[in-house]
Amino acid sequence: PTQQERFSFQAEVVQLLDLMIHSLYSNKEIFLRELISNASDAIDRLRFAKLTDPGLDESDEPLQIRVSFDKDARTITISDNGIGMSRQEVMDNIGTIAKSGTREFLKALTGDQRKDATLIGQFGVGFYSAFIIADRVTLTTRRAGLPAAEGVRWESDGRGEYALETIERPARGTEIVLHLREGEDELLNDFRLRTIIRKYSDHISLPILMPDENTESAEGTESGDAPGETVVNRASALWARPKSEIGEQEYSEFYKHVAHDYADPLAHLHAKMEGTYEYTLLLFIPAHAPFDLWMPESRHGVKLHVQRVFIMDDTGQLMPNYLRFVRGVIDSSDLPLNVSREILQSSRVVDSIRSSAVKRVLKLLKDLAEKEPDKYATFWGEFGAVLKEGIAEDYSNRDDIARLLRFTTTKSSTDTPDTSLADYVARMQEGQEKIYYLIAPTLAAAKSSPHLEIFREKGIEVLLLSDPVDNWVVTSLPDFDGKRLQSVAQGASDLGALEDAAEKEANEKAGTELAALVERLKKALGDRVRDVRTTNRLTTSPACIVAGEPDIEMNLIRRMQGSGM
Ligand code: ADP
Ligand code: MG
Repeated sequence: PTQQERFSFQAEVVQLLDLMIHSLYSNKEIFLRELISNASDAIDRLRFAKLTDPGLDESDEPLQIRVSFDKDARTITISDNGIGMSRQEVMDNIGTIAKSGTREFLKALTGDQRKDATLIGQFGVGFYSAFIIADRVTLTTRRAGLPAAEGVRWESDGRGEYALETIERPARGTEIVLHLREGEDELLNDFRLRTIIRKYSDHISLPILMPDENTESAEGTESGDAPGETVVNRASALWARPKSEIGEQEYSEFYKHVAHDYADPLAHLHAKMEGTYEYTLLLFIPAHAPFDLWMPESRHGVKLHVQRVFIMDDTGQLMPNYLRFVRGVIDSSDLPLNVSREILQSSRVVDSIRSSAVKRVLKLLKDLAEKEPDKYATFWGEFGAVLKEGIAEDYSNRDDIARLLRFTTTKSSTDTPDTSLADYVARMQEGQEKIYYLIAPTLAAAKSSPHLEIFREKGIEVLLLSDPVDNWVVTSLPDFDGKRLQSVAQGASDLGALEDAAEKEANEKAGTELAALVERLKKALGDRVRDVRTTNRLTTSPACIVAGEPDIEMNLIRRMQGSGM
């Protein structure tokens, strides 16, 4: 072994560790779920790497996770024979928080324990949860494919520094020893640990082994386990099991594992498809937006499996951008196990899976909107602005997406977007042919716009749009249910049949009476306006500015310039 070296944690890590220990204590069992989840990810990655590099298969030991404890030493040990880590990987993954989200994470903290706990998993700081119950953590690991002499030992008390050493480690994979804090001895209990594993990790598709209690039946080897050990979890891919056998709690724990989330999902869909292609979908709608939803590199959340083997995270082939919040698993029986990203991009199988998965998700949202409006309102608040992108992005499903949109209107009693286009159409007035909307930078600006005066007076509902994406929505959605969408701020105030003959006459009369004023204004404003005219659309304001009918609205132009289009 080489000499031990000492390193400091990043300042953020220290802050995070401190917070974790104090705010997550009431939830301390999660350390085991986090460490098992990492072990499972490491084995998935080994399996995938082996497809292209069979040399990584150094032993024929089955892929598995082990959990054990030592009452005298007061330790709990979690080990896996997954991909392991090189020295550099340990430094990158365990000593620092490589992910860009740390600062956002710290900013997002609320001080409310329960809320903060739900944030922690999202930011990928799961490993540090070990320090909730341990005052010293020792991790030994060796990366698959590296020689035994390149093992690594990492140790820390979680107080700002860690020690790193190169060691001899014949076995590939990672072992983590938790030296328990004072007062945590209740965890040194076989039944307690098994209960935690079953509660949080039953869905993990790899066997999680624990040594048998040596008191009773030490040779309890029901399913051919190594003598003296039993598999604690169910160890089968959750999505491959029949729906009828799976409880809500299991779906929920599985979701938390794949989504790296702490909160329960809002809804899920689980379907086995058997047509031209055979595949299984297990997809979830989260209850809250991930911190990176609006970041350019925000991750997609669906994991592609082939015959239960994890292949890769979606990078846009499985879910379109406007459904990037969907989390879960798609497992195909028709793709080759050594499928590459390039193959995925031009695969007919993938195209077919994607298009049916998208339809299923839209259907799931439709059902949620109809049957559980409260949950749908939560969904809309978190992800509505993302779903709206679909109107422009996904022509083939535009109509279904349009039905899922929710708006605040001049008739909404609160600012919450609660009106669908179908609701709007159902409330349209006699003689009304168009769906009217107003775009403004904020809802408050929209509400006080003079453009609304005539519509208010006539009791005509107007959609109030203030999301930056709303311009895309209205330009990509010319009509709904046969009704054109019409901006109240554009062109002549064309109320069509809603305007009665007397009003038309009054307008014309005003035109003649005010002709001289209009001329003077035109002269004064010169090139700065295209036209000046009288209108009956104002009831209390003397004047307003209107965009020309065929113009793309200024907001949209600015947006396109901003996005480099
Ligand atoms: P996350 O799992 O969300 O990436 P964690 O804090 O749980 O965040 O883990 C950080 C990183 O440390 C992992 O992404 C992985 O690269 C590495 N890691 C943790 N545990 C293991 C393990 N048992 N085997 C290999 N790598 C691991
Ligand atoms: Mg993790």
